[in-house]
Amino acid sequence: MEDSRSIPPQPDITGQSQADVPSPRERRKPRIPEVPPLAPPPAQLADYEAIIGKSQLDELRFLASVLRGKTVKMVNSTAVGGGVAEMLNRLVPLLGELEIKTGWEVITGGNDFFEITKAFHNALHGGEYALTEQARDVFMRHTEQNRQRMNFDEDFIVIHDPQPAGLIASKTDRSSRWIWRCHIDLSNPNTEVWNFLQPMVERYDAAVFSSPAFARQLSIPQVLFYPCIDPLSEKNKELEESYIREVCDNFGVDRSRPIVTQISRFDRLKDPVGVIQACKMAKKYVDFQLVLAGGSASDDPEGAIVLREVMEAADEDPDIIILDLPPWSALEINALQRASTIIVQKSLKEGFGLTVTEGLWKGKPIIASAVGGIPTQVIDKLTGTLVHSVEGCAYQIRYLLMHPELGLQLGRNGREHVKENFLMTTNVRRWLLLFRLLSEGLNPAPL
Ligand code: UDP
Repeated sequence: MEDSRSIPPQPDITGQSQADVPSPRERRKPRIPEVPPLAPPPAQLADYEAIIGKSQLDELRFLASVLRGKTVKMVNSTAVGGGVAEMLNRLVPLLGELEIKTGWEVITGGNDFFEITKAFHNALHGGEYALTEQARDVFMRHTEQNRQRMNFDEDFIVIHDPQPAGLIASKTDRSSRWIWRCHIDLSNPNTEVWNFLQPMVERYDAAVFSSPAFARQLSIPQVLFYPCIDPLSEKNKELEESYIREVCDNFGVDRSRPIVTQISRFDRLKDPVGVIQACKMAKKYVDFQLVLAGGSASDDPEGAIVLREVMEAADEDPDIIILDLPPWSALEINALQRASTIIVQKSLKEGFGLTVTEGLWKGKPIIASAVGGIPTQVIDKLTGTLVHSVEGCAYQIRYLLMHPELGLQLGRNGREHVKENFLMTTNVRRWLLLFRLLSEGLNPAPL
């Protein structure tokens, strides 16, 4: 076939040169702000009543009543970026509204410290790593500096993830309760790094993991807190129909035809090429468009390579819409999810899979791989369908597009499942229960 890109622009009968006529790909260039929009004012506790109902909100107030006046300090390693900071941004003010005075501090450290904690992070996920004496020293030195700078007078000290875990050295015999909230998968850690951290972790009063599968055998009580989404955030709040239409128009998505969407960083573990293959198979039987929207690849060399692979696999198919979005695209992602007929998450490996939670919350049927935290969310044939291959994914896309009533039912169930288990308000309730158990001297049941 002749490559149209090699033909020089010719004037056409309208007098317009072909160069002025946008190609299908150019028409889809995202028209979104080049700078982050101003953050909206945060939601108040009372705003959640419309979502979870008065009785559940009253339950939170009731659980908090005996904790009134208690103090909490949350500590993590970054104020912006990443799921932990995003979650703390909501959790801290909500606990405050429940009259539990909650502060949030971020540890400081030089590049040497954060390089080592990044290496620890990868090693705790099972990567190869030789822990040197120097790395231990850097970790301990920065931990010591943070300990000198901070005080720990609160009733509950919650330390998030391994970077600040060493602050436990400040635990005294006072009544403060120390909790280690681990957001990462510790099921298969590098032994040297884990042996270094374990004695610190076991000095805490309790550890919290995001999944039983992520936990380790420990001498302290462990509890399970699922990750959560905020239903009032830009990513998840209800949107005007006109705004959803505007976003689709900007991205060249045709709302009169079915839309199958995967939102994910351009990462091989999210298998975007597998999604394209599945869609090409399903397209032989049913008509739809595929939207693959992912994070900006410009600052991630590997992401840029994967994006190129995705473009090649799409092969200029006008029904495959690939969107490379900047990090401040929460509203656009929300609109794309809401415009979708089906949401796919065909990951090869996954943490919890928040995109699945987001899709379920929007009442969409989900087709997702049975990896990581996805089976906790997608209960097969009840809140979505679980798949194990490209062919399985293709079959389910075809089946669900041909049985829209089933899609609607899965979506309804999925939204209820999220409401019950994976909302910010559920997370607040779990913190309140844990604080109560610890302050009453009871040990939470092990996982
Ligand atoms: N996300 C985003 N922009 C993108 C791609 C993803 O904001 O271009 C969001 C997505 O909506 C979700 C989170 O990033 O909230 C991804 O979380 P998930 O657990 O699904 O995967 P991770 O990227 O952490 O592996």
